[in-house]
Amino acid sequence: MKKQTAGIHHITAIAGDAQENIDFYAGILGLRFVKKTINFDDPNTYHFYFGNEGGEPGTIITFFPWPGAYRGVIGNGQVGVTTYAIPEGAMDFWEDRLHRFGIDTKKTTRFGELYLQFEDVHGLKLELVERTEGKQNEWEFNGVTKDVAIKGFGGAVLYSGAPGNTQETLTDVMGLEKVAEEGEYIRFRSTGDIGNIIDLKITSSGRGMMGVGTVHHIAWRAKDDADHLDWQTYVRNKGYHVTPVQDRNYFNAIYFREYGNILFEIATDPPGFAHDESFETMGEKLMLPSQYEPYRAQLERSLPKVEVRSVMPKKEGLK
Ligand code: ZN
Repeated sequence: MKKQTAGIHHITAIAGDAQENIDFYAGILGLRFVKKTINFDDPNTYHFYFGNEGGEPGTIITFFPWPGAYRGVIGNGQVGVTTYAIPEGAMDFWEDRLHRFGIDTKKTTRFGELYLQFEDVHGLKLELVERTEGKQNEWEFNGVTKDVAIKGFGGAVLYSGAPGNTQETLTDVMGLEKVAEEGEYIRFRSTGDIGNIIDLKITSSGRGMMGVGTVHHIAWRAKDDADHLDWQTYVRNKGYHVTPVQDRNYFNAIYFREYGNILFEIATDPPGFAHDESFETMGEKLMLPSQYEPYRAQLERSLPKVEVRSVMPKKEGLK
């Protein structure tokens, strides 16, 4: 039977300085810092998660802060642009807010939609688009109120090393539907109401290189553990090399690289981010999986101190 993902579960990228990363995504973009944990494969570095008030699938961007690491190159084999959905009528608010924080923006149109594009503090390409789909994000912080808050991912723009192959993976494996083609882009849609519009750029974006300011992988949603195991078999039967199931504490994960060289993950919706700390206090404490709990004191000493804090615009009052 053909399988279909609901859409993006999360997107994971490489950041530079950890506090700068939090100041940007929590302080400026107003996302909730839903989890402070470590990279399970490299416990001396952080793994941060930002999302809507509940850290729901389709809203979560995650970062490995690698301070002092090389800047990457955005190009083929990556998510080129990460798209966030904002409520209808919120574009002017965001354009003004980003400018007041000293962030340059550019407007562009694809498939009849207006996009406000900019880079994060470490060079990651982001864009905002007004969408009616997706429920309101109730999280309010540092001047971002829920009527204008980022709802979650609108989707992503994929830069592929072999767009024909990537198209095949999106439709024949992930079950997305091709809905439109325009200029350099093909548009695909999945069944969810957030993180559901994927644009594939069919022209080359040059050679990509992983590093600070680039996306590491894009993860797609599986309903539960049983569905996840079905996905693993399904992807393997389609001829991809897929990893064993990895317990990421907040979801289970499998990974495979599609033949346009983009690293895909499939992640379970459950258990989510409120299973090891309460909804009210999510993100405040350093959370460790049980295998690293004995090293808590040592890790807390060696990891840089970070906090969610209000950040001030650089250009107060400028319109
Ligand atoms: Zn992931």
